Amino acid sequence: MASIDKKEQCQICKKQFNSSELTLAAIVRPTVVDVIKKKYPNWNSNGKICKQDLDSFRRQYIKGVLETEKGELSKLDNDVIKSLTQHEIISKRPDKDKTHYSFGERLSDKIASFGGSWTFIIIFLIVLATWIAINSYVLLAKPFDPFPYILMNLILSCIAALQAPVIMMSQNRQEKKDRMRAEHDYKVNLKAELEIRHLHEKMDHLLHSQWTRLLEIQELQVELMESAKRERRNDKNEINRK
Ligand SMILES: [Zn+2]
Repeated sequence: MASIDKKEQCQICKKQFNSSELTLAAIVRPTVVDVIKKKYPNWNSNGKICKQDLDSFRRQYIKGVLETEKGELSKLDNDVIKSLTQHEIISKRPDKDKTHYSFGERLSDKIASFGGSWTFIIIFLIVLATWIAINSYVLLAKPFDPFPYILMNLILSCIAALQAPVIMMSQNRQEKKDRMRAEHDYKVNLKAELEIRHLHEKMDHLLHSQWTRLLEIQELQVELMESAKRERRNDKNEINRK
């Protein structure tokens, strides 16, 4: 039967073959056609191709797909490493900032923290008690601030009047620090959120493209196996005929 077949040309290797050994170019998988077209730009979809050439192009396509897969994985690794280093930069501690504060600002902070401590209250009480004791007993003859201690009242009201604005100054600065911390927290959260979304997209993309590629590779393998089977059957027939 094969001897009756008329001879036809394969458009890749230009050799003559029986028409049963040739495949129509129109039924070659488009992804494989892309690989062929890269090597043979004047590929004709009306022509024919021999089995050996078609199989070699199929193998080339699978090889290419596997290589791009590897490349994509290493790119993902790089992206994760890059974002990790960027993340470290963003999440620095805000209270360790090196902003320069003026002498007045530092002084108001110190006074406010000292004014709000037990040390200050105890010292203050001791000073007041000493003042009253001196003016009541020791200098009873000629006290510099006799009862009801008007000079002490004046000094006390002066201290209170000064302490209020100093505490307010310190509070303002504390508020600024808190605001900075909140902004920083927001930035870190936003970055984490974006990163997670980014990873989601990457995983979706990888899963989807890998799945379709895997299916394609499997189909191609089945085709290769079938063509090998056909070849073996043809060989057997020829041996039987002899
Ligand atoms: Zn050929």
